[in-house]
Amino acid sequence: MGFNMLDKSVSEEGVCFGVESTADDYSVGIVTFDGKVLSNVINPFIPETGGIHPREAARHHAEVAGRVISTAFEEARVKPDEISIVAFSQGPGLGPCLRTGATSARALSSYLNIPLVGVNHCVAHIEIGKLTTGAVDPVTLYVSGGNTIVAAFDAGRYRVFGETLDIAAGNCLDVFAREAGFRQSKGMPLGAIVEEQARKGAKLLNLPYSVKGMDLSFSGLLTAITRLLKEGEYLIEDLCFSLEEMVFSMLGEVTERALAHTEKQEILLTGGVAANKRLQGILSSVASDHSSRFCVVPKQYALDNGAMIAWTGILAFRYGLVTPVEKSLVRLRWRLEDVDAPWVRE
Ligand code: AMP
Ligand code: MG
Repeated sequence: MGFNMLDKSVSEEGVCFGVESTADDYSVGIVTFDGKVLSNVINPFIPETGGIHPREAARHHAEVAGRVISTAFEEARVKPDEISIVAFSQGPGLGPCLRTGATSARALSSYLNIPLVGVNHCVAHIEIGKLTTGAVDPVTLYVSGGNTIVAAFDAGRYRVFGETLDIAAGNCLDVFAREAGFRQSKGMPLGAIVEEQARKGAKLLNLPYSVKGMDLSFSGLLTAITRLLKEGEYLIEDLCFSLEEMVFSMLGEVTERALAHTEKQEILLTGGVAANKRLQGILSSVASDHSSRFCVVPKQYALDNGAMIAWTGILAFRYGLVTPVEKSLVRLRWRLEDVDAPWVRE
């Protein structure tokens, strides 16, 4: 199975249209059955102020859907009637956002009279990581704006070994960045702004470190760093540096524990926060301490994207997993370990 972003020749076998809309991004990816990404168009919702309101994000998705879909077809040089299946992110995520993507997917699949495949968003982050890095059976650290999960395949399913008990690591960085007055722009997520500031920091401030077994908690850390910010005595660079060091050391510790426990030979880093160089460095040294391979998803597939949904739809479809329209209701809390993943072998 090859991965080549530049090769635009369409596979004989088929092409999948995938739509992602679990949270702030509306994205469409078109992928061939043999794993070539023909297009991957992402349109993020950037709120004027504050965090992501599910209904506002859903309105954004509905507004941009038509444009994103037609750009994805143009870039892929594929016509709608050349699509073999339609995949969509069925959950977990924000209800109103998920429903907009599901509606586009149902409409396209009924119009073209082709199968619909509901995909689990977390599994899709793992599968795109495996496709693009060649990882086969990794311990995965999936860390994004909405999720923080350490998972690995075990006894026929992806299992969650550890996860956040409150907010996601990306959310912790984002809320702090907003409190500090930073604003997200296209191509510059809040976490990337924190990363840029952190690179200039040097002083490690005293902050809570909260790891419970293989689970994590970030809300106390967020409260503490926000308090230090409001005290106004510390440089923003040092605050960002200290926040990153705490969050990423916690992530490194639980990933290392899962690696030792499962005795896997690969670490896969995926999700939006995977773009962070400091986090990559920490996990890469954990991997080398355990003679394991470190794999990180390329940046364009780190954020929520339609290509990962399309690719996972293909994997499921090959094993006969399709989603009839009457069973295509979105699943807001669809857990990783509840997903049937017959295509994975240990
Ligand atoms: P996702 O939820 O997968 O779309 O990822 C979005 C999350 O990734 C947000 O919390 C972003 O702030 C975060 N993010 C993106 N780039 C970086 C980066 N370079 N460093 C840290 N976090 C990042
Ligand atoms: Mg996102």
